[in-house]
Amino acid sequence: MKRKVALEEEIGFFHKIRNRFLISIALVTVVLTGVIMYMLAKDYYEMIDKSAQTSLARLSESVFQTLYVSMNSGISEQVQEALREAQLKKLVDSLDLYISKDVIKQFNLKQTYEPPPEIASVFDGPSHDDRYMPITANDGERAMRYIKPFLAKQECTACHAVKAGTVLGVMDLTLSLGQFDDLSKQSLKQIVIAIFVLVAISGFLLHTISVRLLFDPIKELQVATKKLAKNAGEPNIQLTARGKNEFGQVARNFNWFITKVYDINNRLQLEEKKTKELLENREEEVMRRTKEVHELNKELMRHMDIVDENVITSRADLKGIITSASSAFCKISGYERDDLIGNPHNIVRHPDMQKELFADMWGTIQAGKVWRGEIKNRKKDGGSYWVRATISPLFNDLGEISSYLAVRYDISVQKELEATLAKLTEATKRSHTDALTGMINRLRINELLQMEIDRVERYGGDLCVALMDIDKFKNINDTYGHLIGDQVLIALAKILAQTMRKTDIAGRWGGEEFLIVLTHTPIDGAVKKLNSTRRSIEADKFDPVPKVTASFGVSSFQSGDTLESLVGRADVALYFAKESGRNCVKSTADTVKPGSIEVDLNEEK
Ligand code: GH3
Ligand code: MG
Ligand code: MG
Repeated sequence: MKRKVALEEEIGFFHKIRNRFLISIALVTVVLTGVIMYMLAKDYYEMIDKSAQTSLARLSESVFQTLYVSMNSGISEQVQEALREAQLKKLVDSLDLYISKDVIKQFNLKQTYEPPPEIASVFDGPSHDDRYMPITANDGERAMRYIKPFLAKQECTACHAVKAGTVLGVMDLTLSLGQFDDLSKQSLKQIVIAIFVLVAISGFLLHTISVRLLFDPIKELQVATKKLAKNAGEPNIQLTARGKNEFGQVARNFNWFITKVYDINNRLQLEEKKTKELLENREEEVMRRTKEVHELNKELMRHMDIVDENVITSRADLKGIITSASSAFCKISGYERDDLIGNPHNIVRHPDMQKELFADMWGTIQAGKVWRGEIKNRKKDGGSYWVRATISPLFNDLGEISSYLAVRYDISVQKELEATLAKLTEATKRSHTDALTGMINRLRINELLQMEIDRVERYGGDLCVALMDIDKFKNINDTYGHLIGDQVLIALAKILAQTMRKTDIAGRWGGEEFLIVLTHTPIDGAVKKLNSTRRSIEADKFDPVPKVTASFGVSSFQSGDTLESLVGRADVALYFAKESGRNCVKSTADTVKPGSIEVDLNEEK
């Protein structure tokens, strides 16, 4: 709409220009013609006036000459005649001759009328100059009046005595200029018509040429651009290329431009169609993606809430002052968010934590590295909680550290579990250990031996069990006291630990008896090994006890054996060793058939 208004205004503008041009031509024609007419008329009147004055002067001079001659001849009748002739010839429209009173008197002339005042003043006045007076005649025409005094040229004494310069008479002549004016008006009219026609034709031609060369191409261009504005890409909007001038060039360029625009428009329409199709397909895709993004966003928000609720996070500035804290942090520490923000992290510092840990943490993060570690924190109510913290420096665009982000996981339960487990391990260890010697106790030996029995039963192989009993230990107690007896037990435990292989198991069976499990060992090997141990005991010094010996009873696993039957046979062999004089190793092969002796394994000896 706006564009249309603008275009219409342009049309008005060019019309105005053309109309103003036409009015200007008309005005110029009129003014020019008027000026020329005025100047010509002025010249004409001046010329007519001048020639009238010349004619009147000449006529008066000739009359005066006649009169003068007449007067000189002194014949009054001739004077009268001359005057009459002049009037009769109708050389002028009126001719009056006023003779001075002296002359009238001298020549006895008849003066029938009195001179009017302007004539009388010539006779009387000091000035005797002739005067021309443009007047309007009775019929309204212009006329020229000429008042001419006649002066005596020299002293004349022919018929009267007159001094030179005396006014003899005054001639009053009037010449009508009507006929000359008519003539000049006639010629003026013709000239004016000629000028008017000439200027009008020139103006018209100028206008026609300018319209054809200037306004028409501009209007055509304007109409074409308007059409183009309404319907871009219309190939039929073409301008007439007029000659090789600038407008011709503009028209050709415009036509070329339109063809190009048409071409581009076609291609654009094609592209538009393709784009539309593409967009339609994409629209669905975009809708789907948008929905997905929306869902993901919701999910993200939910996750962020979950993170906020569950992950203990906080941010701190370069001085360690907390600038933000998650809900989980508030919850676990028992502080309100406002209590935390603005305070340093040592608000939750637990006195159990070593200063060195925080020094290490600050050193790491200030060096731009990530610090990881476990920290025990103090709650607002004085309680504590453990976190595994990851503290990362955050960098600005310049690569400088701008703040620190701490992400922590509550490991309080884990820590509690660890503590419980440690206690449990300790308790288990204690339950499996003999308090005096530090060796595994009978309970543990039973567990381990049962596992070995199960293994051998399943996979096959050799397994031997030996019972070792200190010889005459009662005597040692009785002689050196129980404490020394205990020291002997401890020393023997050490010897067993040193002499037995890593894969073997040795523990305190009870009292001054020890049980040794020799894995992957046949009975011969076991006897050999135990004899070696026996000799080591015998050779060792147990200050203040001069000598300690031990007896060994060994049995080898037979398929179908239980722990009790296996150990039972070893006990029988031990009994046999005691019977055989002690400080020796005896196997079940040295005693009786397997399974023939029943032993109470729980009975302490
Ligand atoms: P044998 O050669 O026949 O084995 O003679 P023995 O004296 O060693 O046998 P007996 O069973 O008569 O004595 C064992 C002694 O071991 C009895 C007990 O006081 C002592 N004994 C058992 N346990 C400990 C202990 O933990 N410390 C001390 N000092 N003595 C213990
Ligand atoms: Mg003994
Ligand atoms: Mg004993």
